[in-house]
Amino acid sequence: YNHVFGKGKWSEFDPKDLLISYNALKVLEARYLLKDPETLRYIETPQMMFKRVASYLAKVEQDKNVQQDAAQKFYEIMSSLKFVPNTPALMNSGTRLGILSACFVLPVRDSMTSPSGDGIYDTLRAMALVHQQGGGTGFDFSELRPKGDVVASTAGVASGPVSFMKIFDVSTDVVKQGGKRRGANMGVMHAWHADIEDFIHAKTGELKDVQLQNFNISVGVYDYFMEAVMKEEQVPLITPRKTKIPGTDHEYYIVKARNYMREEWVQEEILRELEEKGSVYLDESKIITVDEALAIAEKEGAVIRWVNARTLFEQIVKGAWDSGDPGLLFIDEINRRHPTWYLGKIQATNPCGEEPLLPWESCNLGSLNLEKFVKERDGTPYIDWDDLANTIRYAVRFLDNVVDANRYPLPQIEQATKRTRKVGLGVMGLARALIKLGIPYDSVDAVYVSYYLAKFIYYHAMKTSIELAKEKGSFPAYDPVRYKDVWESARELDEILTISGIRGKPSDYAKKLMSEAEKLDVTVLKDMRLKYGLRNATVVSVAPTGTISIIAGTSSSIEPLFALAFIRNVAVGKFMEIDPLFLEYLRKYELDTPDVVKKIAETGEVGDNPFVPKTIRKLFRTAHEVEPMYHVLHQAAWQQWNDSGTSKTINLRSEEPADTVEKVYMTAWKLGIKGITVYRDKSKSQQVIYFGLKK
Ligand code: UDP
Repeated sequence: YNHVFGKGKWSEFDPKDLLISYNALKVLEARYLLKDPETLRYIETPQMMFKRVASYLAKVEQDKNVQQDAAQKFYEIMSSLKFVPNTPALMNSGTRLGILSACFVLPVRDSMTSPSGDGIYDTLRAMALVHQQGGGTGFDFSELRPKGDVVASTAGVASGPVSFMKIFDVSTDVVKQGGKRRGANMGVMHAWHADIEDFIHAKTGELKDVQLQNFNISVGVYDYFMEAVMKEEQVPLITPRKTKIPGTDHEYYIVKARNYMREEWVQEEILRELEEKGSVYLDESKIITVDEALAIAEKEGAVIRWVNARTLFEQIVKGAWDSGDPGLLFIDEINRRHPTWYLGKIQATNPCGEEPLLPWESCNLGSLNLEKFVKERDGTPYIDWDDLANTIRYAVRFLDNVVDANRYPLPQIEQATKRTRKVGLGVMGLARALIKLGIPYDSVDAVYVSYYLAKFIYYHAMKTSIELAKEKGSFPAYDPVRYKDVWESARELDEILTISGIRGKPSDYAKKLMSEAEKLDVTVLKDMRLKYGLRNATVVSVAPTGTISIIAGTSSSIEPLFALAFIRNVAVGKFMEIDPLFLEYLRKYELDTPDVVKKIAETGEVGDNPFVPKTIRKLFRTAHEVEPMYHVLHQAAWQQWNDSGTSKTINLRSEEPADTVEKVYMTAWKLGIKGITVYRDKSKSQQVIYFGLKK
């Protein structure tokens, strides 16, 4: 099948396969390596898999020489484990299944079926098609009328969004049996919806571990809501029933007007544009103010009741403390920082939150393995910026090619995706890179490293996308004037630290380490972009890298190490792991005796064990030892230089009080994070990773 590399030979030993760890091999053999459908025998090795993917994605290139070079480079960055694309691209490239992207957002309109293909049962079908091939789906269920509302066609009563979510959940279960991987969902409901309390409690208390097990759920909150929480004010709960706005020719939905803050924000944007350009982009009659929207909602009988925002927020916090759900999506922040905001407002994200997308949009992801760019010279670690920049160039070209090589399950998805050509280059191995640099995760230095790594990666990803536009053209919906650059809203590191309440300055060592990134002037990209265009509406996104980090043999995403020894519970079985980097350190201090290792494995952490050297104790602090605020700070740092989202779990110790969740949620909003999720250890009966051996 391989036009560039020749037909791979099963019998040939390829030393590059020695880079693949035992766990990685187990994962690859379970799902990724192709098998003969008749005999079920493997027909490829890991290197053959990388070659299959590389040549398939290179084929998109028109020019033969570019194609050859791309195939070689794509293979090189994958086989060295410096870059790994998301699971569907690894599994499906060059096979009969066509989805290469991990992230989808599907619309759900308030009708059973709809000619536009976005009624409840149309979307259910679309979801099944995406899950079958390994993609994850997100939905905003807020347009569905609440429980008990009228159904005109049958004179019956509506059963409400949560009941429909249950059908989506069961379908996910069923498709999981035959599909390539477990389908995952994000269910969103906005805080103004009349059924919001049902939604908040859909996965907690008695329903924990029972209901909506294939969903992450998030409440869509707005600035007005968070401010009302702080002031303990009343907020209206609204039914999104279809209605006309008086005085306009437009059939309009309260559901569109429902959120006044959002409408006000659009108005501001447009007024600014009017000033700048003397032209109007949106129909002015669609713009209404906060008070107008509310007046309309009340007049139409759409306001069901008023609740105290603080009370609602406390229920959210309690749910999250109890079971990890719901998380929050900061809808205003997402839309303020939405580069192609003029195409519509974003209401939902994919399952893990790294992709805020418009209805029908999809995005393909891939991640850089940061550990691979930390090298050593005369015993001193440094970051190889040239290698990193070069890898980014080919990674972004790869991801851009995925948009064309993808076979989309529905025409609406193809259309929406090709309109913006969003791609998401992310990272994994941050924790291990920091250890190699000798910097503890919970330190100002580490947050500083995160911030400037993010900036460097964003800069080079964006630069590549501009170069690709010069070569191949811009994404169709590119509007050079209205496009919003990320740095317009990126916060300074000092500001982030101040808001979080953590004080301190980066050390001279960290400053020297990052000087290459710190000196970058991102604003030069604007001139380039105006001159040549832009190939992709978004270029970066920090994904969880749940499986690809195992394949790359590194720590996942931007998370701290989970545990120094732990049992990993994945679809194919249980693995016990001892962190190899940790073992290396123990060796350095001659502490790698079975007794010591066993002792540490009992809890998964070294804690404040006085017999373990201080350096080890500081460097190897695990997810639960790291103060929650440092988790939040890393997420905030990576979010600033990110035109999509940053997926992160704020891992909490089992005994952490609900107040901590509240603080984390509030601070996340103040820091300009787009969405937040917590997980308190042992709060669910099933969790992917168990810490230590005895617990
Ligand atoms: N995803 C999914 N099912 C899964 C895991 C992931 O559909 O079991 C989707 C989901 O949209 C998620 C995205 O893939 O947000 C990226 O997840 P991750 O980075 O963990 O995937 P990987 O590429 O490592 O498999």
